[in-house]
Amino acid sequence: MKSISVCVIGAGTAGLAALKNSLEHQLNVVCYEQSKQIGGTWVYEDLSPNIEDECEIHSSMYQGLRTNLPKEVMGYLDFPYPESMADSFVSSHDVLSFLYLYAEHFDLQKHIKFQHEVIRVLPRTNGRWEVHVKNRLTGKCFVEMFDRIFVCNGHYTKPQYPRIEGMEIYQGCSIHSHLYREPYKFEGEDVLIIGAGPSGMDLTNQISKTAKRVFLSHHLKEAPRTDFMPRVTQKPDVQRFTESGAIFKDGSQETFSFVIFCTGYQYSFPFLSTDCGIFVANNHVQPLYKHTININFPTMAIIGLPFMVLPTQCFDLQVRFVLKFFSNEQKLPTQEEMMDALHEDMQERKERGLTERDAHKMGEKQWFVLFQFVYYQELSKIAGHNVKPVIAKIMKDCSKKYIFELETYRQYQFKVLDDENFLKIHVK
Ligand SMILES: Cc1cc2nc3c(=O)[nH]c(=O)nc-3n(C[C@H](O)[C@H](O)[C@H](O)COP(=O)(O)OP(=O)(O)OC[C@H]3O[C@@H](n4cnc5c(N)ncnc54)[C@H](O)[C@@H]3O)c2cc1C
Repeated sequence: MKSISVCVIGAGTAGLAALKNSLEHQLNVVCYEQSKQIGGTWVYEDLSPNIEDECEIHSSMYQGLRTNLPKEVMGYLDFPYPESMADSFVSSHDVLSFLYLYAEHFDLQKHIKFQHEVIRVLPRTNGRWEVHVKNRLTGKCFVEMFDRIFVCNGHYTKPQYPRIEGMEIYQGCSIHSHLYREPYKFEGEDVLIIGAGPSGMDLTNQISKTAKRVFLSHHLKEAPRTDFMPRVTQKPDVQRFTESGAIFKDGSQETFSFVIFCTGYQYSFPFLSTDCGIFVANNHVQPLYKHTININFPTMAIIGLPFMVLPTQCFDLQVRFVLKFFSNEQKLPTQEEMMDALHEDMQERKERGLTERDAHKMGEKQWFVLFQFVYYQELSKIAGHNVKPVIAKIMKDCSKKYIFELETYRQYQFKVLDDENFLKIHVK
């Protein structure tokens, strides 16, 4: 029987898992990566002075970043970080080195076509996929046909901006955290940071060391701890911008020369033709079965959409789940059953007060039942692998630490003792 052909789009954390596991299923797989190397988000990119479109730059990585999760929970299901890396909260270079180790161990690089950008994907009536690829070296385009597609293009490239009155009259500089690289540019300046997620908190900390004043605007119910950061003032949401600053919802007014929007990203699939049956509305990618399989064309899966997760473990699990269907080992539920499952999931989220923007959020409530992750358990029933309880326990220990213990939580090292237990040691 002719082997099933698989196209993987992107060679970041998700694409590497898709490639490695497809090979282990003896599928005939090709991975297209638009850049010169593997790693995606973890590859630091300098900014060229004349960027016309923010999305030309793929990675949001900045200097001095240390992971907000310990490396003990950032490995793949069957490939943990090496013990020789001492720290738990590692640098972006260490994460990239780890991805290279993974690619080397499973001999993945020879299956990746670098500097090949997928520019169009179309379903064909014979059930196959027509994939249009541009060779970025030669500028030439070609078409290949595949039976299955893994879309692993990453979801931290297209900035999301809030709509705030007066943004167009503000005369200072504004950027999205996607284009933030280092704090020195803000030395001696007054800076407004909007958003107190992991990036907003990290940037506030970095910039406040040398800026004149930093205003951190957010609407978190519990105010984050910033008392250890010099010159930082917390503010509520911006009511409206003025020419030189902003008026906040509590009526206070400030002037500043820079605004940094740490307001998240939008899902984007510029290469999928509308015929692929996928659309994005309010940051909800649909219609998907278990946040991954395209219900309209179940021979396509998108890996990496869920957030507030253990990214690498989650992506690996999604890939293994999908491959059971891609390789015909498991029979998919009917389209109607998959749509019912999707509606049930959305209804359950609605009852918990979540909006459509949180359609792919796997917050605490959905993660933990007796130290097991509900979403992961669902996938594992098919995938045959699950996240180890010790990983869930470490994750719970680290949850939301960036809000209340930003200056100290990275001073710990974790050591996995067995599938259930870990040690936590204070190191500096
Ligand atoms: C600032 C920041 C900090 C983070 N910190 C952590 C952390 O501490 N711990 C953690 O676990 N996670 C962290 N994350 C999340 C991290 O992004 C994920 O863990 C993971 O690396 C995402 O992998 P991915 O493969 O989905 O996407 P990416 O890493 O973005 O890879 C996508 C790849 O697809 C390629 N591609 C895109 N479009 C095309 C196309 N059309 N054709 C061909 N190739 C294409 C890209 O070039 C890229 O190589 C962080 C993210 C950011 C932005």
